Amino acid sequence: MTTPDHVTSYAAADELYRIHLRHLDYCLVCRVSAECGEGVRMRRAVRAARLTADKGQPRPT
Ligand SMILES: [Zn+2]
Repeated sequence: MTTPDHVTSYAAADELYRIHLRHLDYCLVCRVSAECGEGVRMRRAVRAARLTADKGQPRPT
């Protein structure tokens, strides 16, 4: 394994985000009103994955 952890983390966050977008596309509840439980769960997962990815990213000083 030569891929740094933060790279795979960003890829995972991206994938989750795409899944979320796809859900928004076909989910009538998310489209018509606010959000369904699944949509909220997905958004949380995306945010958590991005936080994890950011932690792996070295910060410029
Ligand atoms: Zn939904």
